[in-house]
Amino acid sequence: MATVKLTNVKKIYSGNVTAVHDFNLDIADKEFIVFVGPSGCGKSTTLRMVAGLEDISEGTVEIDGEVVNDLLPKDRHISMVFQNYALYPHLTVYENIAFPLRLQKNPKMSQDEIYERVTNAAQVLGITQYLTRKPKALSGGQRQRVAIGRAMVKDCKVFLMDEPLSNLDAKLRNQMRAEIILLRKRINTTFIYVTHDQTEAMTLGDRIVCMKDGYIMQVGTPTELFDWPANLFVAQFIGAPMMNTIKTELTKEGNKYFVSPFGHKLEVDGDKGKLLLERGVEPQEIYLGVRPEHVTLCKDGKKGFPVTILVNEMMGSEYHLHVETEDGNKIVVRISTFNLTEEEREQMVMGNKINIIFEGKAMHFFSTENEYNLLTDNQYHANDDAGKEVNEETPVEETPAEAQVEETPVEEEKPSEEVSSEETVEEK
Ligand code: ADP
Repeated sequence: MATVKLTNVKKIYSGNVTAVHDFNLDIADKEFIVFVGPSGCGKSTTLRMVAGLEDISEGTVEIDGEVVNDLLPKDRHISMVFQNYALYPHLTVYENIAFPLRLQKNPKMSQDEIYERVTNAAQVLGITQYLTRKPKALSGGQRQRVAIGRAMVKDCKVFLMDEPLSNLDAKLRNQMRAEIILLRKRINTTFIYVTHDQTEAMTLGDRIVCMKDGYIMQVGTPTELFDWPANLFVAQFIGAPMMNTIKTELTKEGNKYFVSPFGHKLEVDGDKGKLLLERGVEPQEIYLGVRPEHVTLCKDGKKGFPVTILVNEMMGSEYHLHVETEDGNKIVVRISTFNLTEEEREQMVMGNKINIIFEGKAMHFFSTENEYNLLTDNQYHANDDAGKEVNEETPVEETPAEAQVEETPVEEEKPSEEVSSEETVEEK
């Protein structure tokens, strides 16, 4: 249990590569924070600075009010789970989980206490039956559970997870995601979780830190990021399929605002219209954002605009329609199949024309100048070219980081490549 505070944290790698610029964040005790963003945006670097696996070039990291910049990883009271599991191939599952406990000195942990902790963790993670196996006789998902178990048994203040599910197949990832939510309830500590997957961020995080090119783009709850993205980047990164954006004019007549996507003039009605007025937003060129799930099919002769279906992706519970407007723009429309009549379903085929409409409450408005949301208070970087200096290649790690988080084990105890492979070993 602990608060974590990052103040003006910066990371400059050799060669003047600035991977993280001026990162500021207050993490509350027991909060689950997710760092999300595309590959290379600085999420892992930030996490590794908290863990003590990377030096902090500028700024401070505090855990529980104590500046930890100069503390070794093992003295920071953290547990960490890595993407590649990093298990010790020659040790059984039991010994892998017990490993950090055996390293503890002052006081040394008794065999009984170790047994209790390991068997408890194994039970929570559903791997009791594998305790005597070696990692190579486990599937990817089981190995990841062992890695989580090893991090769980330690008393830690902060639980750090770096892309822990990326090596798993989609189905297992969904299952493990749900297990992490349950695990979080059981462990009840502060979590920082790194992922490039917006679904993981949305489902796991109390708050999400969305990053790009070493800058924080927005910090907020999943709902805040989804409903009130601070800028176009967040708007398009969060949510799948991606938000549609259309360059158009925001105009004003009296107290009413209008947009004209694809040459069809639409009033911005409802709360969004009121908010534009309250904030005194000037008429201007904008990127109009509409999420695919917020595009409505026009029924019963309601006015909308016609589009032609180019592709219909049948997802089971919904269609993802890739459609083309009369003026040649392409957008994506997401339609639940649940309420469609048989006749309407038959309409959803390639080449057919349908009528769609955007409603005011579903619209988002972004400046074309800086890509900020015109209806949010922005304190974040948006359309700047920061990060151009950021090197795209992620260098290969030399020392196994997990060894540093615990205590450097002797050479032959370093995890081998074999264990980090994605290959699934058949259960015997
Ligand atoms: P993410 O976790 O978001 O994928 P990283 O934090 O790993 O991103 O990397 C951020 C940026 O820093 C990337 O451009 C990466 O190439 C660069 N970088 C990471 N580690 C090093 C290093 N040891 N030396 C130089 N550049 C690095």
